[in-house]
Amino acid sequence: MRIVLLGPPGSGKGTQAALLVEQLEVPHISTGAILRDATKKGTQLGLQAKALTDKGELVPDNVMSELLEERLGSDDVDNGFILDGYPRNLAQASSLEALLERLEKPIDQAILIDIDDDQIIKRIARRALEEGRADDTEETVRNRLRVYAEQTAPVADFYAERGLLTKVLGEGSRNEIFQRLLSIINLDAVSQ
Ligand code: ADP
Repeated sequence: MRIVLLGPPGSGKGTQAALLVEQLEVPHISTGAILRDATKKGTQLGLQAKALTDKGELVPDNVMSELLEERLGSDDVDNGFILDGYPRNLAQASSLEALLERLEKPIDQAILIDIDDDQIIKRIARRALEEGRADDTEETVRNRLRVYAEQTAPVADFYAERGLLTKVLGEGSRNEIFQRLLSIINLDAVSQ
């Protein structure tokens, strides 16, 4: 089961991805988490990424595609994966499609978690208090939402054109949203 989770910052993608991987027993690949980890370790990638993520800007496509190629080349993705945070623009969507074609592991389903901006801002303000993420400041959040609207929202159309997109309402409790996700994932395909 190879799934791309899409949704604006604060839509609950990361939370839902964590619940899904438990159920589906496939790895959770969060590019945001990979970058934060690299930053914590102080690697060259991490330092380069921090300057951009702190402003809510995207890390360059070539850096991300190299990172994805390495991650998706590992054996643990043989039974599938949940991709969270990638692709974030049309160039990344095309490069992912080409990579997965080469690996003979095409995406089965793209799921967009749909939620409006008011809810997002409330959630991120709460997360800022709970987790203290450096990119959850008001100014950076505003920029992340702008980057999402301009660059990432078109990625949903990319998958819709390929007949792979399903939208799920991102309002309600964690569990309500999770049940909605489970109901649209083809679980028959999981056991194969
Ligand atoms: P959110 O979805 O809440 O914005 P993420 O944890 O997915 O947060 O990403 C945090 C930051 O990491 C992004 O704002 C961006 O700067 C960087 N990032 C993550 N994934 C990508 C990507 N695919 N391409 C470029 N930058 C990325």
